[in-house]
Amino acid sequence: VSGFSVANLPFGVAGGRVVTRFADRVLAVGDVVADPVFERPALNDFMAQGPDAWRDTRGALTQALAAPEKLAMTPAAEVELTRPFDVGDYVDFYSSLQHATNLGRLFRPDGEPLLPNWRRLPVGYHGRAGTIVVSGTPVVRPTGLIEVEGDVVRRPAQRLDIELEVGFVVGVGNEQGRPIAVDDVDRHVFGAVLVNDWSARDIQAFEYQPLGPFLGKSFATTISPWVVPLEALRPYLVPAVAQAPEPDDGLRARRDWALDLELEVELNGTTISRTNFRDLYWTFAQQLAHLTSNGASTRPGDLFASGTVSGPAPHQYGSLIELTWRGRDPITLADGSTRTFLEDGDTVVLRGWCGTGEDRVDFGEAAGTILPATG
Ligand code: MN
Repeated sequence: VSGFSVANLPFGVAGGRVVTRFADRVLAVGDVVADPVFERPALNDFMAQGPDAWRDTRGALTQALAAPEKLAMTPAAEVELTRPFDVGDYVDFYSSLQHATNLGRLFRPDGEPLLPNWRRLPVGYHGRAGTIVVSGTPVVRPTGLIEVEGDVVRRPAQRLDIELEVGFVVGVGNEQGRPIAVDDVDRHVFGAVLVNDWSARDIQAFEYQPLGPFLGKSFATTISPWVVPLEALRPYLVPAVAQAPEPDDGLRARRDWALDLELEVELNGTTISRTNFRDLYWTFAQQLAHLTSNGASTRPGDLFASGTVSGPAPHQYGSLIELTWRGRDPITLADGSTRTFLEDGDTVVLRGWCGTGEDRVDFGEAAGTILPATG
């Protein structure tokens, strides 16, 4: 079962060319469709062509792959995939009800876990596009100003964490002053990737009030190398969870925008979390509608991520701070060692897939290994 049949046909970049994957092999798209947009080291120009061109390209690839023996393909294991697109603006949301509730309890134990805005709009922050890296890129442990027993000291973060997320890539942007309607997002969104929003909880805990996450998250964000087209995900779009109170008109969708996507997190070879993306409280359609609702423009390559995906059961939590309840309940790995937060040398792999069997749509991996602090 490959997960990379013609039902998927994800897009990536290798050797300065746009590529796709079929079974365990990689194909240069430009070998099938002659267009200069496929001879570039980023998907942006192809994504900017819009949904008709995206569908035509999928059609041409599907047709060519009916006779794969006629195509010059390279084994996937021999291909080094680079960052698939130049990231424009990067926004990270906070749209899992379970995650927001858990973090509220951990960061503000004496207050209501959810702030009054949370059920009214998809809360988010602007992140750092320039430090988004492709799977396999090492992550250096950040150093920062951390509160320790009433004092503030500069030291390497000791509570280095992951966030299991799904990111959506804008292909066709909107003009400034012209918001994207919630049910029109498929004219704009090209596809999706896995996202690991690495988070230094001890840096974050001291810096985040009142303006939100900053250096605790901006040091690195890992994305998977294959952008799975929204077209391939259509069969897995399902009704969203009920929202109460009913959202504002501008956030109310008629179409189904929740995504039935299985997700898992592996730490040094041990699966530590397994969840599904479909129960996210705010859908990616509501997120994009909201982020343009003030007239903000978007461009090809803008990325917006879901926020940590945590399901209701503890083994479905998408971060270590939740899985270990801020270190109170260490997790045990297959080699018998325990973890509260990440140690130097640890490797985290995120995986995701829709469906089962031959035609399942695989997202591949978003992997990263922690290197010791340098500063
Ligand atoms: Mn996040």
